[in-house]
Amino acid sequence: MKKLYFFLPFLLLACKSNIATVSEKASQSDKPVEITYKVEQSDVSDFLKYLSSDELEGRETGTKGIEKAAVFLEDFLKKNNVKPYFATYRDTLTNFKTPAYNIVGVIEGTDPELKKEFVVLSAHYDHIGLLKNKQADVINNGANDDASGVTAVAQMAKYFIETKSNKRSILVVFFAGEEKGLLGSKSLVQKLKKQDFNLYAQLNIEMIGVPMKRDYLAYITGFDKSNMAEKINEYTGKKTIGFLPKEAEYELFYRSDNYSFYDVFKKPCQSISTFDFENFDFYHHPSDEFKVMDIPHMTSFIQEFLPAVTQIASSKTQEITMK
Ligand SMILES: [Zn+2]
Repeated sequence: MKKLYFFLPFLLLACKSNIATVSEKASQSDKPVEITYKVEQSDVSDFLKYLSSDELEGRETGTKGIEKAAVFLEDFLKKNNVKPYFATYRDTLTNFKTPAYNIVGVIEGTDPELKKEFVVLSAHYDHIGLLKNKQADVINNGANDDASGVTAVAQMAKYFIETKSNKRSILVVFFAGEEKGLLGSKSLVQKLKKQDFNLYAQLNIEMIGVPMKRDYLAYITGFDKSNMAEKINEYTGKKTIGFLPKEAEYELFYRSDNYSFYDVFKKPCQSISTFDFENFDFYHHPSDEFKVMDIPHMTSFIQEFLPAVTQIASSKTQEITMK
């Protein structure tokens, strides 16, 4: 997540707000699809462990640490038969002073017509790098922010490759430059716009490494901007998404890579998160590391989203719409 420190001092004063949740009586028109595929905890753990390891030195855009992350992500996509969207997996940022790359793959849809439409699944793989002052631990590992989201997107991509359950095409995007001001998404979206990219919706995943103590699994940014929350709950048959008042208060919709896509395409482009400002003390801190991540939570988060992303990728019509 892009820097939030303007309002961090206020967090200490924040008290628990009343939480309104999405109505349980979601429309019954689409029953949740049956998913037999199982997300493996060891896959989640192994992937996250490397991406948030000290070896990658906090993955700051333009450093040798993020280069190692880029190679790791390319290897993952290649090994899992996700094709590069461009000539290679690397999409060079047009707005950064040194070479920096989004990593972009595509899973072609199975339906001859619907495959012309795209669902973007994304997360940012960059983080804030090394602390400049001398402390015992100078590496900001960014396990929650946002290696956790990258892990979720990677596992979802693996699921779609193995099950071939996407009628629409899926663009798998790992953004660089998010922490520098959403640079990777701003750069990529301009390129896609020029190609008349046919976007249906974007699900961007941000900070899902620890669970919230709430009666829903995750929140969406820009809750009121579309019916995405309602449709996701209908697709999962669960209270997967709720409304977190703080996301509206802090306007988180504008603080991650979903906004760059919304800004250009005016389509449902939103971020999903389980970081609620109460469940994690290490935002942009060297202690945001693998050992404080909740792997069972992450695994069940990904599992719970599978019927939702499947329906988004395969519903007959574009059911998710802006309000
Ligand atoms: Zn961040």
